[in-house]
Amino acid sequence: DADEDGETELVKTICSHCAVGCGLKMEVENDTVVGQQAWKDHPINQGGLCSKGASQAQTVNSPRRLKEPVKKEDGEWVPLSWDEAMDEIADELLRVREEYGPDSTMWMGSAKISNEEAYLFRKLAAFYGTNNVDHQARICHSTTVAGLANTWGFGAMTQSVNDVQHADANLIIGHNPAEAHPVMMRYIQKARQNGGDVIVAEPRFTKTAAHADDYVRFRPGTDIAFINGLLHHIVFNLEAHDEEFLEDRVYDWESAKANIEEYDLETVSDITWVDEEDLKDVAETLVESDVSTVEWSMGSTQHTTGTQNIRSYAILNLALGDTGQVGGGNNPVRGHDNVQGATDVCVLSHHLPGYYGLDDGAWDHWTNVWSETPSTSGTITREELLEDHFHNKEMMNKEGLTDSRWFEGALEDDERRGDLYQPNPVKAVMVWGHSLNSISEMKRLKRALENVDLVVGVDPFPGLAGTLADREDGIILLPAATRQEGSGSVTATNRSVQWRYQAVTPRHNSRTDFDMLTDLAERLGFGEHFDYDEVEEVTNEINLGIRSIGLIGQTPERIKAHMENSHVFSSETLRAEVRDDHELAGEYFGLPWPCWHEDHPGTPILYRDSVHPAEGGLDFRARWGTEAPDGETLLRNSYEPDWWDGEIEGVPQYPGYATELPDGSTPAAPTTPIEYALSEDHSVYDAAQAVDGVNAADFAAYDNEQPDPPTGRGRARARAWNLPDEVPKHREPVETPRKDLIDEYPN
Ligand code: SF4
Repeated sequence: DADEDGETELVKTICSHCAVGCGLKMEVENDTVVGQQAWKDHPINQGGLCSKGASQAQTVNSPRRLKEPVKKEDGEWVPLSWDEAMDEIADELLRVREEYGPDSTMWMGSAKISNEEAYLFRKLAAFYGTNNVDHQARICHSTTVAGLANTWGFGAMTQSVNDVQHADANLIIGHNPAEAHPVMMRYIQKARQNGGDVIVAEPRFTKTAAHADDYVRFRPGTDIAFINGLLHHIVFNLEAHDEEFLEDRVYDWESAKANIEEYDLETVSDITWVDEEDLKDVAETLVESDVSTVEWSMGSTQHTTGTQNIRSYAILNLALGDTGQVGGGNNPVRGHDNVQGATDVCVLSHHLPGYYGLDDGAWDHWTNVWSETPSTSGTITREELLEDHFHNKEMMNKEGLTDSRWFEGALEDDERRGDLYQPNPVKAVMVWGHSLNSISEMKRLKRALENVDLVVGVDPFPGLAGTLADREDGIILLPAATRQEGSGSVTATNRSVQWRYQAVTPRHNSRTDFDMLTDLAERLGFGEHFDYDEVEEVTNEINLGIRSIGLIGQTPERIKAHMENSHVFSSETLRAEVRDDHELAGEYFGLPWPCWHEDHPGTPILYRDSVHPAEGGLDFRARWGTEAPDGETLLRNSYEPDWWDGEIEGVPQYPGYATELPDGSTPAAPTTPIEYALSEDHSVYDAAQAVDGVNAADFAAYDNEQPDPPTGRGRARARAWNLPDEVPKHREPVETPRKDLIDEYPN
């Protein structure tokens, strides 16, 4: 693409500043970014950018970038050659592994690098021999993943950021898009222009609230009671819940209903400090709307009851029957640009890529994939791979340390250390594309970083890895290329996978993360398993291995073609046609997973009942279970035979969501990672444990209180179970001039 004078090249890329996934074009002259232009027909932002996105060119050209590898020696930063730096890091990583074991290194990864790079980072930690690998998602939306995945399957947004314009009611809670996700805010404003209602509910009066039709302030930490108050009015006073939908698609509604009954408006008003009339108003707005959505972000997730906050939103959406429709559903809005993708490839201490967990089946699967990598295909068997690198099953099956709490174990005198974080031998910390300032306990983190033998920081900028620890030596910083200096795919919050083209070669003496990761793998002795000629080979390997969320149709060629052919539709066209045209919706909204095969349009709206399950219209029941309480068989999904293209011979099948094999037989193993999580050996508690200790406690409460699911393994249909008692409903109301407080703020 070139502009009118033919000299400036325009390179399509994706903004790296948040997860909305806006497209833009970098202006390039003589291998230098000289500016940027709008990408007017980009499917998500249609040319619009916020001030962060509009400054993308400045990121590349910033004078504050780290320009060469450096090491701290006697309190001074000393430049190193790349060979010196990489050798020193590799030698030290091998030394601590030899001396203290593979769990001696904490691999703090990133939501800021591409899917391919994030995957390589996870794979590198696996080859090193540890599950001590995690990233920022632990702190932001891990509660969303746990809350949604345990309601209906996928722990992700059901819609797209631009689909909220079709909602008749947008309930925004714990989310301030006017500041954090401004391009999404544009679609919320469009929803108002379309005649929809926008309701903001949260303790703070935000800029988003200033643009809402209705603002409801509730007491911090009482989200669950607030949502259940709305549900109580909808179900028991108005009797306006969608009985047909609940009957057909939701399991255990009765127990959820019994729980909701406890939240009468007077009780909820006491807990939340919201007037009963205001609660009624919000509930009635939702009921009167044809279709509604709930949107949230870190204001909802970062709670001790974060997982259950999210489950409440999902239950509200189910009760209204608004799930799986254009403009309806649940929309968690991610923070960093590739949080969704880094989570999908599982830079996580409790999963191998694709949310497959850590059990033997998961390792069998991935070692099979890894013995099939381009460089080793046909030259190494899986048995040899296992023998060389993966013989310590006990360690590989063990959950690793998390991003937010590993340092508790590294501090010998830490008084607050919990059971999960017994003293550990962490001696080296890789801080890869992670600024560290999302960690809440900075003082303890600082002390831990001062306590280890080696800290490595990898980032385009010096960052906190280089400055937080007060130490004279033992820190090496590597200058990483920016997102415009490398290529690879990135997954937006709406599950769309997009391609970032390389606009310019890395500036200064920086290198791409892809380049550094493959180099480090070579120096650590795993080179033959990381020998890729180009990034696209990694994309293909990811697609080959991750069946669970349907990436197989997102080939590099297809992602790129999709970006080349992007075009927009008018809002009216969209509203009228997208409802019925799944392919059109896929084209409009990007190429969101699940994307089951190379002709599949992607799944812009999850759980559409009008769409065949093989095309992304998942049936909750088929998703979850094998048998309903009444004995009805729920094995209803079956996919086209071509879904099985790329099958790896001898691999225990992890066929995503298929519950019936092409030959009509039933897979012997649980068929989804979530089923693994819910199976006897891998309970919800296990799956959630690594979310973090507090959320694990939430799950523990469920596991203890709830009877086993009737299927014995997996929960049939979307699950609307009881909410726990940790909601402070028994707390005495505190007298406060709450109305006065609200009135002080401008509307
Ligand atoms: Fe970039 Fe997010 Fe702003 Fe879009 S909304 S331009 S992705 S920072």
